[in-house]
Amino acid sequence: MSSDKGKESVEGSSSRSAAATTQPSRYESQKRRDWNTFGQYLKNQRPPVALSQCTFNHVLDFLRYLDQFGKTKVHLQGCGFFGQPEPPGPCTCPLRQAWGSLDALIGRLRAAYEENGGLPETNPFASGAIRVYLREIITVPRDFQLLESFSTHFGALLYLV
Ligand SMILES: [Zn+2]
Repeated sequence: MSSDKGKESVEGSSSRSAAATTQPSRYESQKRRDWNTFGQYLKNQRPPVALSQCTFNHVLDFLRYLDQFGKTKVHLQGCGFFGQPEPPGPCTCPLRQAWGSLDALIGRLRAAYEENGGLPETNPFASGAIRVYLREIITVPRDFQLLESFSTHFGALLYLV
């Protein structure tokens, strides 16, 4: 029974260069929230996933899961709004998290993992598979087009409350 408690809170809109260079306290609190969100996600799996069992596959699933709350519309090539920065209406094309958000998110979770007792050698956030995934987002598949700039959404990450 998954309640629909997707709730958005846009954070860090004032810092659009590098999230890590903002005040430590802000970074720390954001990191804590990210970590809690991820922990909640693992707990909601069936069966629940213990942190010690967490692999990069769980992280990738988590990133895909976040996509459904993404703010960047990725129009499919067949969509009538393809190529239009300001679509006049809704369509069924998928949403994605902006790359900058995910990159910063992974950085925070990677640090939080080790701060919470995880070993660097088994840190799933440090996996090469994650980097490959992020790179794939940058080089968007040919039939997709990102219509909104990455920077617009930098730091704008959704949190489950
Ligand atoms: Zn569309």
